[in-house]
Amino acid sequence: MPEGDSVFKAAQRMRGHLLGRTVTRSDFRVPRYATTDLAGQVISAFDSYGKHMLTRFDGGLTLHTHFEMDGAWQVTGPGKRLPATFDDEIRLALSTDGPTAYALRMPVLELLPTSQEGEVIGHLGPDLLGPSWDAQEAQRRLVADPRRPVVEALLDQRNLAGIGNLWAVETCFLRGISPWTPAAEVDLAALLVLVRRMLLHSLDNPGQVTTGDTRRGHTHWVYGRAGRPCRRCGTPIEHRDAVAGTSWSRETWWCPRCQPGPFPSLAERPSRPGLRRGVNEESFGSRGRRLRGSPGLAR
Ligand SMILES: [Zn+2]
Repeated sequence: MPEGDSVFKAAQRMRGHLLGRTVTRSDFRVPRYATTDLAGQVISAFDSYGKHMLTRFDGGLTLHTHFEMDGAWQVTGPGKRLPATFDDEIRLALSTDGPTAYALRMPVLELLPTSQEGEVIGHLGPDLLGPSWDAQEAQRRLVADPRRPVVEALLDQRNLAGIGNLWAVETCFLRGISPWTPAAEVDLAALLVLVRRMLLHSLDNPGQVTTGDTRRGHTHWVYGRAGRPCRRCGTPIEHRDAVAGTSWSRETWWCPRCQPGPFPSLAERPSRPGLRRGVNEESFGSRGRRLRGSPGLAR
C-alpha cells in the first residue's frame, strides 16, 4: 500500500541507485510524452512529499509521479531489463549509464519545469516525513472543518501529507476513537505524534506493521479485518465500504467496542463525553496475542 512512508523509502532507494547518473535513453509509454527524450540529462534529485515523488534532472525538468493505489518504481542492474511479462505495466523506462528505472502502472506521471513544482505539490499540507514537518499547522488545517470525521480529515492531503487509509484507520484504533469522531473533538496533538511515530518506525522496518507482529495476517489491528475478532477485545471488526459519489471514498474498518463514538449508517451508539485518551495506544508495536486478556488493557 503506497503511503507516505513507502514513497519516502522508494525515493531513498532510487537515490542510492541512480543519483548523479546520466540518462542514456528514455522510453515514455504515455501518449503525451511519446516523443520526449531525456537522454543526456543528469538525475540530480529524488524527493518525496507525502505520496508524491519528484525526480529532478539537471536541465531544469522534474518528473512528478504519484503512486495512488498501485504504482511503483522498479530498478534493474546495469545491462539488465525487466522480464517481458512487465511490458504492459511499464509507463516509463529510464535507462542510464548505470541501472535502469521503470515506472510501473503509475497513474500520475508528468514532466514539468522544476521551477513549477508548486503547481503539483503546493496544495499539500505539511509533510509528515519532511524536514519541515509542522504539527501545529497540520492541526490548524485538520480543524478548519471542525465537524468533519477525523478519518476523512486525516486522509485529505491538503491537511497533512503522507497518511493513507491504512495508517488512518489503524491510528483511530490505537487512539481508541471512532473514525467518525468530529475532528475538533479529537486530541489531535497526541494523534499526530502517534501517526508520525508509526510512519518513522515504518521507514526502518519492512512492511507496514502496527501490531509488532510481522507474520502474514497478523500485521494490523483493524485494516482489512472485516468480521474477524478484534485482537484486543474479540468483538468482530466492523467495516464500511466507500460510498460512490460522496466525499467518502475509502473503506473503513473499526472495532465498535474499542472505538466508541459516532457510527453513521449503524445503530446510533453513545459517544463518551470529553476527549478520548489513547487507551489503545500502548498496543502499537505489541503483539495482539500477548495483549488478549491483558488486565491493564481491559475495559
Ligand atoms: Zn476491540
